Amino acid sequence: MTLRRVGDTRAVRTAIRDATLPDGSRGDVLIEGEQVLAVGPGVGSRVEHGLDGAGGLLLPAYIDTHVHLDKVLIRDQLVEHDGTLQGAIGAIHAAKHDYDVDDVRRRARAVIESSVLTGTTRLRSHVDVDTVGGLVPLEGVVAAASDCAGIAEVQVIAFPQEGILRDPGAAALMAAAMEKGATVVGGMPHWEDGEADQREHIRLCFELATRFDADVDMHVDESDDGSVRTLAMVVEETERRGWQGRVTVGHVCSLSAADDDYADTVIAGCRRAGITVVSNPVTNLVIQGRADRGLVRRGTTRVRELMAAGVPVAFGQDCVKDGFYPFGRGDMLEVALVSAHAAHLATVEEQHLALAAVTTVPATAWRLGPTYGVTAGARADLQLYAATSWPEVLRRQDPPRQVWFRGRPVARTTVTRELL
Ligand SMILES: [Zn+2]
Repeated sequence: MTLRRVGDTRAVRTAIRDATLPDGSRGDVLIEGEQVLAVGPGVGSRVEHGLDGAGGLLLPAYIDTHVHLDKVLIRDQLVEHDGTLQGAIGAIHAAKHDYDVDDVRRRARAVIESSVLTGTTRLRSHVDVDTVGGLVPLEGVVAAASDCAGIAEVQVIAFPQEGILRDPGAAALMAAAMEKGATVVGGMPHWEDGEADQREHIRLCFELATRFDADVDMHVDESDDGSVRTLAMVVEETERRGWQGRVTVGHVCSLSAADDDYADTVIAGCRRAGITVVSNPVTNLVIQGRADRGLVRRGTTRVRELMAAGVPVAFGQDCVKDGFYPFGRGDMLEVALVSAHAAHLATVEEQHLALAAVTTVPATAWRLGPTYGVTAGARADLQLYAATSWPEVLRRQDPPRQVWFRGRPVARTTVTRELL
């Protein structure tokens, strides 16, 4: 595997010839500078520089819209814990006191690079903002994002992991984080004590979002307890503030444990309020349901019901070898496969929903519009596979042959297998 940093972005023309396009047709993609100039049969034939797609599937690069880059790869530095969400937060809490900017920066950079190698060029990272680590995690991730600006684009979310009311001082730090590089307001209302504090937490987050004209992306109801229902409060606040289309909710595990009446109502509310749901099955399969015996709850939200109701559902990596989750490498193809298992996405049509969950759905949450995709006028963030269809790409799990960021090749992988 090789990773190349983009230096100069002069408007050279290159082509990817004879690839399978996302709609299943065969054609070329002509790239000029950072952009896709044209897509279709023969459009790349006159260009000197080109790559033979050999019929392989060409996709827009993945977007990992829910990852915690400040915590990645920290697992070896943590004390062992009981495997629960509470245990993980506690273990990281202890380590967070001793964070230094360079350590966060190194770990974050390693996962951004590994993400690019596996086809992701946009990442949205929650970063802890609290009175334990202050703004050190933010500074580390912002520095890593800047180090990697030639190979990927990183958005930063100011995330109050320790609560806002439970952690006096966090609200001011959140505002400071928005001044220092965060562009999205995070939240975690279910972490507060009681409904009044949960509502106040949500109100404070939207207040901040209004002040900075920022989108909101919260951790919501990451619990096995079906009575944990802050999602309904987020829907209410979204509509009250007119923030429709600008709100994302992550995890939403407890929705699966709630009754169907509540689920139907709140799912309809999410649809109405233009809320995107990010499910993170890879992490929640490992961390939820720890106290169950027999039929263990798996912590995955009602993915198929949400999709059927027209709510956009994305999948995120969430964690990479941190206190919550021991595996992961920023590989959204792996995330799509595990999520397809967890959410029963098995028909060809459903498998394409898993693809949308790591491409077009997060693109909509980011409000990228026509700048995303394998289409003329889009930014040329692309990836080319050897396999010729998405079900085969998903099943085989081979990394992309090549990845482009802003029109330039940034990663290449050659896989050699021999049967002897
Ligand atoms: Zn998360």
